[in-house]
Amino acid sequence: MTKGNINVSVENIFPLIKKFLYSDHEIFLRELISNATDATLKLKHLTSIGDAKVEYGNPQIEIKIDKKGKKLHIIDQGIGMTADEVEKYINQIAFSGAEEFLDKYKDSGKDSGIIGHFGLGFYSAFMVAEKVDIITKSFKDEPAVIWTCDGSPEFTLEPHDKTERGTEIILHIAEDSTEFLEEARINSLLTKYNKFMPIPIKFGTKEVTIPLAEDAPKDAKPKKETVDNIINNPNPAWTKQPADLEDENYKSFYRELYPTQFEEPLFHIHLNVDYPFNLTGILYFPKMTTDLNIQKDKIQLYQNQVFVTDNVEGIVPEFLTMLRGVIDSPDIPLNVSRSYLQADGAVKKISSYITRKVADKLKSLFNNNREDFEAKWNDIKIVIEYGMLSEDKFFEKADAFALYPTVDGKYYTYEELFNKIKANQTDKDGKLVILYASNEDAQHSYIEAATAKGYEVLLLDSPIISHLMQKLESTKENITFTRVDADHIDNLIKKDDTKISKLTDEQKTELETILKEVIPAEKFSVQLETMDNTSTPFMITQPEFMRRMKE
Ligand code: ADP
Ligand code: MG
Repeated sequence: MTKGNINVSVENIFPLIKKFLYSDHEIFLRELISNATDATLKLKHLTSIGDAKVEYGNPQIEIKIDKKGKKLHIIDQGIGMTADEVEKYINQIAFSGAEEFLDKYKDSGKDSGIIGHFGLGFYSAFMVAEKVDIITKSFKDEPAVIWTCDGSPEFTLEPHDKTERGTEIILHIAEDSTEFLEEARINSLLTKYNKFMPIPIKFGTKEVTIPLAEDAPKDAKPKKETVDNIINNPNPAWTKQPADLEDENYKSFYRELYPTQFEEPLFHIHLNVDYPFNLTGILYFPKMTTDLNIQKDKIQLYQNQVFVTDNVEGIVPEFLTMLRGVIDSPDIPLNVSRSYLQADGAVKKISSYITRKVADKLKSLFNNNREDFEAKWNDIKIVIEYGMLSEDKFFEKADAFALYPTVDGKYYTYEELFNKIKANQTDKDGKLVILYASNEDAQHSYIEAATAKGYEVLLLDSPIISHLMQKLESTKENITFTRVDADHIDNLIKKDDTKISKLTDEQKTELETILKEVIPAEKFSVQLETMDNTSTPFMITQPEFMRRMKE
């Protein structure tokens, strides 16, 4: 047997990285800004624990386009690198300085928010640049250096006269990537990936109007001022403590997330857990309408405030993908396939945590303000019913607050309904018969007849309700759902059942002959007696099993 090492030469691996590391070339900017953020957060951490004796100040990150020179600059005021560190961190592909930092500062660094992970992010620059310069000066008292590389395994490293602390990355944009020299393109990338990153990011300047003082003369013109154009909100709501936020803060964050949504969310759920996994976020229940935006405005997934994706399939239980909001977790493995994700232990825990939090929130809304909950029911029932069907854990919890509205505008929980009808609505086998209508207008006379008998009739019209009825029939003991126009509702056990016909015997015979001709007897049955206090002279009913066969 021969054993050995496979020889990976950099010459071979470079083109591979360039081509296949990320399917989306545009993420190079996210990676470089993440590194600039990490460099700044490291400095913040080191100054806070006294390991760096420099002023932290108010550092920002700047993105500059040099269209003529075909260059894109990413400039930070973070820890910078010494010549040795460039050799160590940049020249070694797949060696992550971020991981090394987290290892070294274990406990104290845990909450520093460092993003980097795999030691590959920097090289994504070569997906769009034919040459990359790094000009960097460490916070340590050492001279600045410039590193240059054209994407081949050769690089140069020389002294540089940069005096301010920090790093400037210069991308010499390749011919096929000149889109990244367009202001609009960069602006949309910044909005997509960096909108909530923790260090202020400057992209150009903008004019703002200074409001006039109250005692300003009438003819005074408001002054204009040029200020830095900061594209991000470094302290988004989900990173704060729920106790520090008012309802209005949640609403305005919703508008920040979805600037084109004018409808306010119904309510929010603040997620916040740090054991056994790390996860923060805010979920919103939108009004479930046929709004076309619903597909567009989805839950966004972040890692340490960096946007990753709005495809949360596999991470959030499917019935909750109709919600909106953000989830931020460094613990979700993202470089793996979605099918793997579903099997991943941490992801499973995250998914069931989210399910539980949503159920708890709904329960507390129900308990604390039932009237309001009933008013919102129509807008949230789809999510809840879908959840009850697809997740048994959710079913167990939701059983306490899922509502069953009646034709006359009452809302029952299952238990309330059960107690209300158990004495009155059983069939000859002792089965509890839950009557429902699906269309108030079409089934009007049947509803009238049933309510006249003192039966409760539910109005169940959501698209998946028939599946939920089946689920309830198989979960609860000895119950059956029966549509109000089914044939056997007259056989229910009820004390004072007296049937009166409004028709004479003659009329009855006549009617029977006519109906026999037009209505197939095996599918419907005709009943010529009804309760005296309804206006219906006769009824045509259909067996429940026939009706379900059609559905
Ligand atoms: P990762 O971020 O996963 O560690 P990268 O390939 O993105 O890997 O970066 C490699 C290393 O290079 C970083 O960990 C860091 O030590 C160093 N580095 C990259 N960009 C900067 C920067 N702007 N300032 C200081 N150090 C940097
Ligand atoms: Mg990185």
